[in-house]
Amino acid sequence: KSRKRKLLFEVNEKAAARYFDFLKNNEKGAEAARKYLQNRGIEDRIVEKFRIGYAPPVEAAGWNFLGSTFSQEQTRAAVETGLLVDNKKGGTYDRFRDRIVFPIFNIAGQVCGFGGRIVGEGQPKYLNSPESAVFNKSNLLLGLFQQKESIRRHNRAILVEGNFDLVSLVAKGCENVVAPLGTAVTREQLRLIKRFAEEATLLFDGDEAGGKAAARAVPLFLAEQLAGKVALLPGGHDPDTYIREFGLAELSRILGEAKDLPEFVLGRLVEQFGLGLDGKRRIVEELVPLVEAAPSPLQRSVFLSHFAQELGMAVEQLEQFMAAPRD
Ligand code: ATP
Ligand code: MN
Ligand code: MN
Ligand code: MN
Repeated sequence: KSRKRKLLFEVNEKAAARYFDFLKNNEKGAEAARKYLQNRGIEDRIVEKFRIGYAPPVEAAGWNFLGSTFSQEQTRAAVETGLLVDNKKGGTYDRFRDRIVFPIFNIAGQVCGFGGRIVGEGQPKYLNSPESAVFNKSNLLLGLFQQKESIRRHNRAILVEGNFDLVSLVAKGCENVVAPLGTAVTREQLRLIKRFAEEATLLFDGDEAGGKAAARAVPLFLAEQLAGKVALLPGGHDPDTYIREFGLAELSRILGEAKDLPEFVLGRLVEQFGLGLDGKRRIVEELVPLVEAAPSPLQRSVFLSHFAQELGMAVEQLEQFMAAPRD
């Protein structure tokens, strides 16, 4: 079994090397991809740091770019990691074509899988490796391998949504950043962060999805006892567009104004339901799972008194409601 894993890592490693080499050295075939990265502010230094590569389009390298250099055993392994797909004629073809590819490393620096962005417009915009024996999205964070020392120094990780948010912030000098892989933040990911820092700030897109994703992560922070903050970007910006338009200092200001988790949650609920009598009732209902996720009686009572004050209620009243059995 460990021999098998070794083989899967080996083909991933080889694929990362070939994608990287193609991006760097294929004069014509990768010209558009290099230009694309340049336009998005991603210099060579960043390409090298993250080992960003380019999976060539069919016109430049055919349908079996990776498979053509693999042994039979490696080809079977590459099908298993999802780099190659079996075709109907007993051969294989490349899953990633005409995409900027980001290798996804574990903290040991092994390549577990890939995330690929189409160059320019097209669907789907992002394509990830499928789950495999070495790739489990919920246990990995893009950028952690490269940025973990910075995260340790700051004693804080900044979580952004996307691949380009990560590399764009690092390019502009905001270093302690990681990105979950296009899915909801998981407990395992927070546990990974805890190995390097005591705090994490969610810096998510300023849209409905970003706000929802941040709210859903709150109970996980509590369960993991990781201190957390939330900053949402204004006007539909994401960290990448924001830092490129307004710069690092302005982004740091937004990060400095990040809200504590309970404050953030309550603020959202007040916006949603209002502070009328019925609104308060709904808000309290929504706060129950949050208070219950708090791991210690002390933390629960801190939350209760904070929420009671903000809602203009007596702590006892809130407590009673929370303690009452619900159906
Ligand atoms: P870009 O800046 O490259 O246009 P984005 O990162 O701003 O993309 P979002 O729509 O904000 O794109 O999505 C955030 C992240 O979610 C992406 O970076 C990617 O990791 C992931 N993601 C988005 N769409 C998909 C998809 N269709 N399949 C898998 N992952 C996706
Ligand atoms: Mn988004
Ligand atoms: Mn973006
Ligand atoms: Mn985005």
